[in-house]
Amino acid sequence: MTAYKLRGKIALGTLMKLRHLLSAAVIALAACATAEPPAAPDIAAFNSPALSADALMGHIRVLASDEFEGRAPGTEGEGLTVEYLQRAYEAAGLEPGVTLADGSRSWVQETQLTAATLTNTPTLTIAGRGGARDYAYATQFSAWTRRLDPTIDIENAPLVFVGYGVNAPELGWNDYEGIDVRGKIVVMLINDPDFETGDDRGFGGRAMTYYGRWTYKFEEAGRQGAAGAIIIHETAPASYPWAVIQSSTNSARWDVVRADRGASRAGFEGWVTTEVAMETFRRAGLDFNRLKARAQTRGFRAVPMGTLRGSLELQTSTQTRTTSNVIGVLPGAERPDETIIYTAHWDHLGRCPAIQGDDICNGALDNATGTAALIELARRFSAGGRPQRSVAFIALTAEEQGLLGALYYMQNPVFAPRTTVAAINMDGISNFGPTRDIEVVGFGKSEMDDLITWAMEAQGRRVAPDSSPEAGYFYRSDHLHFAQLGIPVLYTSNGIDMVEGGVERGAALNAVYVANNYHKPSDEVTDQWDMSGGVQDLEALYAVGRRLADGEMWPQWRENAEFRGAREASQR
Ligand SMILES: [Zn+2]
Repeated sequence: MTAYKLRGKIALGTLMKLRHLLSAAVIALAACATAEPPAAPDIAAFNSPALSADALMGHIRVLASDEFEGRAPGTEGEGLTVEYLQRAYEAAGLEPGVTLADGSRSWVQETQLTAATLTNTPTLTIAGRGGARDYAYATQFSAWTRRLDPTIDIENAPLVFVGYGVNAPELGWNDYEGIDVRGKIVVMLINDPDFETGDDRGFGGRAMTYYGRWTYKFEEAGRQGAAGAIIIHETAPASYPWAVIQSSTNSARWDVVRADRGASRAGFEGWVTTEVAMETFRRAGLDFNRLKARAQTRGFRAVPMGTLRGSLELQTSTQTRTTSNVIGVLPGAERPDETIIYTAHWDHLGRCPAIQGDDICNGALDNATGTAALIELARRFSAGGRPQRSVAFIALTAEEQGLLGALYYMQNPVFAPRTTVAAINMDGISNFGPTRDIEVVGFGKSEMDDLITWAMEAQGRRVAPDSSPEAGYFYRSDHLHFAQLGIPVLYTSNGIDMVEGGVERGAALNAVYVANNYHKPSDEVTDQWDMSGGVQDLEALYAVGRRLADGEMWPQWRENAEFRGAREASQR
């Protein structure tokens, strides 16, 4: 769920090779028509020790083909993808990464997901001074539940403004201090308390921390026992318009199966527009801007919203689906219990709203590129000699549904977090040609920065820090759940300083991708694709992993990183 910066030219030589590849892939695809999943492109054809753009393209073309139907979890597309990955991992010299209860090994870590679909069109009613006011679903508010109850019926629950809804003991900040919100509806602001203050009040100033993410705010509201939790949408601190919220109001809400059936979550979670919030504060006799300013100061205390009471009824039908993380490992020769992990999500949106008659969101860039990179890196590690430590390759499911494959892994780690040296996540590999830089999302959090800087300098290239820290992209892809296990993570996105055309062209290509292709049926392979820049980036990520796999280094989190505590805890 991150934005990408992508476009480029393609060489004739490569085209000839591709044509040969294509015929191999097409033959494989023809096989698919008879339900026989396509064989992985012939890995032996790419026995050069170096990473190969052709090999990447071979995998991408198959994974992003219409046959794979946009690789939605729990669909035929998943079956083809998982089968393809297993064959490719095996051909790349990996071993099955999962040990089952009976001691046997498997390539897959199965997980159950639930999909809750609203069966009614809810109305949010806020009653109090001036009578009851009804708000319309999707245009004025959104709401869903993480509880596996078919009916959620909240009636006349008091509203409480809890500022940014943060409880950060390590920062001495608790917006829930001194108030009991059980049975109430909490109303809160998006992003961090110091996002708009121009200074750092402990949350890194403009850069978003995990406390600024909606996922954290709803988790905390659940921990506090709230009956309902509402975030006020404001475009700048949210870093996306209301349209993004509205677009998810007609799709199922996915989740991992929770042991408590979601009882530890608020009865409902959702957003209201700025306008609805303004009107509600006025009706409560409260000044929104003054309270927002107070919420940005240390020592803020929650404010009951006058006599206002909120009511909402949700009817949901829930289905479960089985889906899989696909895990292969190259066991270490010396210290096999110490592991470096590469991750990439293999899933995408599947069938999506049609554009010009095309309703398959192929997810070529997002993230057939990263999935192909897992296979190519596995082949590269095998070809480069068995490392001292183990290297694992995890293709994660259901990233598009909320990082759920990674969340399931976090709850059921296959490799002990304590002895996991680092994790490197790939979500979108550059397809628009060589750049002079690479961007490190979340730059400044750990010593992984030093390793990627070393690898880039060896290539005569440079690292660019996160270009939009305020958007919190660090918290919007799978590495987040590995970081929450305390594992130092590296997540790069392609640089924009193009060898041909500089930053101007890079930024333009990015803007075109985000506007035209991101999460659309047109995210497909075209003749403009050029993976040579992506290969350079992957060589740098390979160098980082190889150095760790053949060394004794344990990269550390920086002093102020919010995941440092989790690492220390895992080491005890
Ligand atoms: Zn993605």
